Amino acid sequence: MKIVVNWALCEGNGKCEEEAPELFELDDEDELTVLNETPPEELRAKAEAAVRLCPKNALSIEG
Ligand code: SF4
Repeated sequence: MKIVVNWALCEGNGKCEEEAPELFELDDEDELTVLNETPPEELRAKAEAAVRLCPKNALSIEG
């Protein structure tokens, strides 16, 4: 599984971090960092929830 961010769409509102803080982190300037781009299967449900809840549809999962 690989988390892909469409950086052109991400507006740094942090919904993904709220849903999956193991995977996403926003800094003080609302710049997103993906903490783990290839997370283990145990985190798939959280990753999928973040994809679903991203209001900009900026996230996707490959694999
Ligand atoms: S929820 Fe979507 S738009 Fe918001 S910070 Fe995360 S990837 Fe960016």
